[in-house]
Amino acid sequence: MAKIPANHPRAKSLKIREKLVKGFERGYVALEGLIAQGRGECFDYLLEEKTTNPAKKAIRAAAAALLLAKHPVISVNGNTAALVAREIVELAKIIPAKIEVNLFYRTKARERKIAIELRKAGAKEILGVGKERATIPELMSERRRVDPRGILIADTVLVPLEDGDRCQALRKLNKTVIAFDLNPLSRTSQAASITIVDNIVRAAPNLIETVKQLKEKPRAELEKILKKFNNKKNLAEVLKHINKRLTELSKK
Ligand code: ATP
Ligand code: MG
Repeated sequence: MAKIPANHPRAKSLKIREKLVKGFERGYVALEGLIAQGRGECFDYLLEEKTTNPAKKAIRAAAAALLLAKHPVISVNGNTAALVAREIVELAKIIPAKIEVNLFYRTKARERKIAIELRKAGAKEILGVGKERATIPELMSERRRVDPRGILIADTVLVPLEDGDRCQALRKLNKTVIAFDLNPLSRTSQAASITIVDNIVRAAPNLIETVKQLKEKPRAELEKILKKFNNKKNLAEVLKHINKRLTELSKK
């Protein structure tokens, strides 16, 4: 792979791509995962590749929900493992939450390789790998298979880079679903309880810091943060932010 010069104007974004390509070459990022990243990048351009105020609000609500949950689970796929394995492990440790590998394009080999990446990043317990499965209804993809000790019994699930169908299925099971998705218009964004419209590489470290800040707060305060949050309103704020920016740019 060609080396990316540090002064390249798109160096940051190219480094992210490099991580995904490496994950693909190692056999745990799906080919479709590379395309999904491209769709996300397009929306990141519209956000100036910055964390917006509505995203910060969503991150705060997500931190509160994860800390209030009885049984929080973080679902991990290939792209998430390639981009933020360390952050996922740290987040799971401080909440604390369980980590479950859950793949749309599922193969035992990919599952195992993702578990290896997570272990390298410091994970001790990883659910969803080569064990007995339960199935969640209303889903055709391999993602309907979930770990009976993880997503099946979870009250709150953090699903980075989720697919719309599964997000809707998890909501129908009355779970609180937190999604990272750069596209505020996707079915995932619309169906999640809390959507963080931000690049996972910026939002994950931010979520860790916010969980640390809120961890010692009384439950009543966390409940207040969560109650004040409205996902539809937050998504509308993101769209307003993009709209304002495009309007300003189109005047020049
Ligand atoms: P949906 O299934 O929710 O309707 P979709 O089919 O358009 O959405 P998928 O391919 O299922 O999209 O999922 C990929 C989603 O992940 C895209 O919406 C994309 O914006 C988002 N995404 C990709 N890379 C990142 C990233 N690095 N950070 C945050 N979001 C990302
Ligand atoms: Mg989809």
